[in-house]
Amino acid sequence: MTAELINGTEIRKEILAELKKEVEGMKAKTGKVPGLVTILVGANPASVSYVTLKVRTAEELGFHEIQDNQPADISEKALLALIEKYNNDPTIHGILIQLPLPKHVDEKKVLNAINPDKDVDGFHPVNVGRLMIGGDEVLYPPCTPAGIQELIVRSGTPTSGAEVVVVGRSNIVGKPIAIMMAQKGKGADSTVTIVHTRTKDLAAHCKRADILIVAAGVPNLVKPEWIKPGSTVIDVGVNRIGMNEKTGKAILRGDVDFDAAKEICGKITPVPGGVGPMTITMLMKNTVRSAWKHIEGK
Ligand code: NAD
Repeated sequence: MTAELINGTEIRKEILAELKKEVEGMKAKTGKVPGLVTILVGANPASVSYVTLKVRTAEELGFHEIQDNQPADISEKALLALIEKYNNDPTIHGILIQLPLPKHVDEKKVLNAINPDKDVDGFHPVNVGRLMIGGDEVLYPPCTPAGIQELIVRSGTPTSGAEVVVVGRSNIVGKPIAIMMAQKGKGADSTVTIVHTRTKDLAAHCKRADILIVAAGVPNLVKPEWIKPGSTVIDVGVNRIGMNEKTGKAILRGDVDFDAAKEICGKITPVPGGVGPMTITMLMKNTVRSAWKHIEGK
């Protein structure tokens, strides 16, 4: 059996088209559009390319977009003042600080200075707490886990009562997706197990999974014999395993042995082109949500 591919690039297009319509509707109804500021400190090449992608996507959707580049030696005080300025700017609904920040700046302090109502990344402790409570309390689910859940839902994978095994317990992927899948509601209601580096028998847990979500950052960690036949496999891992000499681009692999796994599972995400395209997409969705909330109190 060859598994159905869960195509993140196509699902991304679908969601962006929906968001674009929503932004047009917002503009027609209220005369306003979502506003997003991306603060980039310094010029780390990976950060620059990531920010460029965010800015381009926001522009395509018709957002009011500000890319605020700051020098690498900006003081913590000046950065906090900048955040305060955007916290008080009614045309801005989402504030992003591109990480990592230079060492002389306290990253935690800076991130915590963002008004939780404008924290469209969903990393502020207030939003992490809201995610834990679930339901209507959730303002902005963190973007990669939200993208994973969207892929599961849009691929038609049943989640209610399903055994979900999450490999990895990071704050940005493993822990939040585990909480989201265990909550009540659509695309959730699952029975969730989190496994990690101290887990005794990784294979035994993975074999039980109707939905296996792997976010370890270890290429080919998940072996084909760990996969339950017919299950859905979401491979979050992005590992650079070499360089394509012709194109000069990195060769990427996930955490799952894709070629072998696709002969066993029912659905699977590729790397690249699976979870990757979803993160910025969900960031845009959170920004639209924030704009409605600020404009109409929705
Ligand atoms: P992390 O390093 O913070 O966490 C990895 C987790 O995996 C840890 O909790 C660790 O306990 C667990 N782990 C590592 N090796 C393991 C092993 N051998 N057995 C069992 N558990 C193991 O990483 P992260 O930030 O959660 O990212 C994980 C992967 O997902 C990385 O490859 C990263 O590049 C990728 N990622 C992709 C996206 C995206 O596509 N948009 C977003 C975020 C992260």
